[in-house]
Amino acid sequence: MKKTHPAILKFHGVRGSRPIHHTEMTAYGGNSTCLEIDTGMDLTLVIDGGTGLQHLSGRSADHPKHKKIHILVTHTHWDHVLFLPFLKQLTHPHCDIHIHAPEVDGIPFSDLFEMLFAHGRLPIPRPAIKAKLTFHKLIPGQNFLIEGKIRIDTFQVNHQHTTLGYKISHGESSVAVITDASVISNGNHLGKGMPERATEIGKEAFEKEYGDGLIAFLRGVHSLVFDTHFNAKNIKPDWGHATPEIAIDICARAGIKRLFMFHHAPEDNDCKVALKQMHARSLALKFGIEVINAREEDQWPLISA
Ligand SMILES: [Zn+2]
Ligand SMILES: [Zn+2]
Repeated sequence: MKKTHPAILKFHGVRGSRPIHHTEMTAYGGNSTCLEIDTGMDLTLVIDGGTGLQHLSGRSADHPKHKKIHILVTHTHWDHVLFLPFLKQLTHPHCDIHIHAPEVDGIPFSDLFEMLFAHGRLPIPRPAIKAKLTFHKLIPGQNFLIEGKIRIDTFQVNHQHTTLGYKISHGESSVAVITDASVISNGNHLGKGMPERATEIGKEAFEKEYGDGLIAFLRGVHSLVFDTHFNAKNIKPDWGHATPEIAIDICARAGIKRLFMFHHAPEDNDCKVALKQMHARSLALKFGIEVINAREEDQWPLISA
């Protein structure tokens, strides 16, 4: 069987909640969430359109790899969509852009996308979108193929509104990306439909269903990019974010051997983020899990050499 090249995971924006710039925050970067999975195919696959997306904006559409763009949106909080209206390829007639996203409380993502251009938001008239732009509505749990070769699986995670975790598989490469998610415990059922489900089957049964479902979703992936916004001391369970301890526990239960800590808090300077990694590595050692801080413009192959 012909082997495919390993996909490459590229971090373009790793900061959560809001972009930040500060002299003490240059080591990991201040742009908000955006990742790219380079499968070697003639397309660009992106997860989220935070300000990190500007690293891709304006790539020449003359190259077939940059003409077709698929963007998987995890959810519509500002830090994950802020750069979408500025993506230069939207104005390029040769570009073919697909945006895959869940609805928000019944509002299609295409409507929310329009709101990003609403009157008074931009200092210039709305730029004409000349690219071929297609919206794909995603339902939690749905899976689909991109160009018949890249498999995308989705899972609704414990975060406000409808927030999707993605699993991307291509050849022997696989990665799961969960940028915003809190562990479910003690009734913090944050996502759309979750309180209703807990009422329907009982709180404990729902929390087990969610936890087991998340582990089953993640089992078998090579690498996990996971929300470690908080730490064990400052976690606020109702804010919809996690800690290194939670991320390591999930990796251990799902048999994942590489964890990228992601969605760094805008309050955490380089020293704090580095210390967090040191602490997480000491916790993960006994499980044989490699822990790496996501850093803007770093690239990682998704299978071992
Ligand atoms: Zn976020
Ligand atoms: Zn969020």
